[in-house]
Amino acid sequence: MSIKPQATKHIKPHLANAEQQEALGFPGQLIDNWQEKVIDLLGEKVNGSRALQVAMDACMKCGACTDKCHYYQGTKDPNNMPVARQDLMRSVYKRHYTFTGKYLPWLVGAKELDADLLQQWYTYFHQCSQCRRCSVYCPVGIDTSEVSMAGRDILAQVGMGQKYANQVIGKVALKGNNLGLPGPALKDTLLGLEEDVLEDTGVAIRFPIDEAGADILLVTPSADFFAEPHVDGLIGYAKVLHQAGVSWTLSSQASEAANFGLFVGSEQHTREMALRIKVAAQDLGVKRLVFGECGHAWRVAQNHLKDLVQGLDFLDARYPIPQHIAEITHELWQQGTIRLDVTKNAQRCITFHDSCNVARASTLGKVKGGQYSIPRDLLKASCARYVEMPSHTTQQTTLCCGGGGGLLTDELMELRIKGAAARMNAFDEVIKQHQVTHMVAMCAICKSQFSTIFPEFGHAFDSVLSLHQVVGDALDLTSSL
Ligand code: SF4
Ligand code: SF4
Repeated sequence: MSIKPQATKHIKPHLANAEQQEALGFPGQLIDNWQEKVIDLLGEKVNGSRALQVAMDACMKCGACTDKCHYYQGTKDPNNMPVARQDLMRSVYKRHYTFTGKYLPWLVGAKELDADLLQQWYTYFHQCSQCRRCSVYCPVGIDTSEVSMAGRDILAQVGMGQKYANQVIGKVALKGNNLGLPGPALKDTLLGLEEDVLEDTGVAIRFPIDEAGADILLVTPSADFFAEPHVDGLIGYAKVLHQAGVSWTLSSQASEAANFGLFVGSEQHTREMALRIKVAAQDLGVKRLVFGECGHAWRVAQNHLKDLVQGLDFLDARYPIPQHIAEITHELWQQGTIRLDVTKNAQRCITFHDSCNVARASTLGKVKGGQYSIPRDLLKASCARYVEMPSHTTQQTTLCCGGGGGLLTDELMELRIKGAAARMNAFDEVIKQHQVTHMVAMCAICKSQFSTIFPEFGHAFDSVLSLHQVVGDALDLTSSL
């Protein structure tokens, strides 16, 4: 299919207003000397990041990445080809930081940064979900997500921050979570869940919060407290931990696992968001730190948390620091501490969507490829009818849901739908061939995105399930009755 230049030029997120910008220490509006400042910041970023240096210097224009981005596949806008997205930054870098670019700019595609190019940065760095799929196909390992993260941070620093992500960072700082839900509202919600689960199962399962002295602090995405199907995942975690007899607690201070600092590429805000989790763990005196089903949260937690917060030495070193809830559930199942019964999911035929940030930016467990095998082991032990989507859309080459990387906002809906089309085609294939009824995910953003856009593709909004929902439904709770 032919390319459609500028097909998505009109799609961009709302700019953060002055109040939202200034709350994070950024200028309230575009500064007068933005051109000079962007160029200075670009030089600093490239000098400080090996990955960005590679992206600026090593591209051979081989073309291997051009059709690998789900946004390019769905929109055909050439600026959504990963190499072209990088070129938006590389052209300015070459103009100002390379000999050839300074004196023979036409030879290397070097460009001066003007107002139009600045707008293209804002538009197309916000049409990248930072999923890293393109990097899998790049022979020199260029990671476009590093480019879009750096671009967004530079934009915020000259007064062009994104409203959605910056607003969330402010809410998390003030209230502890994405929604600005205060502690008492969370406690009420959790009490309601205890009543619901007792009614459904006949088992008194607790959802403890702010309980000092618990062994585990569980940090979940705030969507787990109220959204569907996320809350069913939270119920699943609680059932597993109850069945295993583990002492655990949630925290009203750290009631958001997702780290939106990553979305805007800001090390400072990523660090501040991470620190509140360390403080909550210290205040509660827990021994272990565990993360719920959130891809971006796990990417930051596993790769950067210890460095960001300057150590977590007070936690029990006999356990991984931090740990993912799926690792714990898998271990408990392998040890026989919990039992799973496939007959309890007999009405379902499921497939699994590997979330980008777990599949390509982090790992699970001690075995290579655990991020692929652990969720599949749990799902196959919980449901007899399990089907894989086509192999070029799973595991390392999984497709983004279309809403990751800080793009899960209404004004980007057209992009989100077009970006999800590739995943929906793969889902349709297994529905037709195997009568699959549900797609399972283990990332809060994937779940929110799919439950919103499924109806656009003719699927019920509740055809997406949480991993721990399927596991929790299969769990044999009889030994505690
Ligand atoms: S990181 Fe993902 S969204 Fe960004 S350009 Fe690469 S494939 Fe596209
Ligand atoms: S695959 Fe890598 S080297 Fe090839 S065009 Fe894309 S970014 Fe450049």
